Amino acid sequence: MIPNFKEIIDLVKKGATIEAQEKIMELREATIKLQQENSELLEKVKVLEKIIDKKLSMKFESPFYYANGDNVPHCPRCWEVNHKAIHYPAPFNNVDGPNYTCPQCKTVITHPQRQRQRQTTY
Ligand SMILES: [Zn+2]
Repeated sequence: MIPNFKEIIDLVKKGATIEAQEKIMELREATIKLQQENSELLEKVKVLEKIIDKKLSMKFESPFYYANGDNVPHCPRCWEVNHKAIHYPAPFNNVDGPNYTCPQCKTVITHPQRQRQRQTTY
């Protein structure tokens, strides 16, 4: 438990300076721990804010996700499972249509040209 100032002042008033110093040390340690926890939490908040910003800007146009102002498709698996916006590299064309392979999770999506809603520019 974190010592409070009143506790320390009471000890000083009683002349219990050693006990007061111990409480001050405990208070300092607790403060350092709280500062560390606070900076870890701020880091987590930053990560979550980035995810939220991206989430708001990502639109699902089956079978891909697209970010605002970005016509290169993102891997739906990476986005939905890990909240990672991974662009597909330029697709490999086969007889069924372009084959998109995610560089991260290796998910392959064959997306026929006729269903494409956007003109992709790499
Ligand atoms: Zn992926």
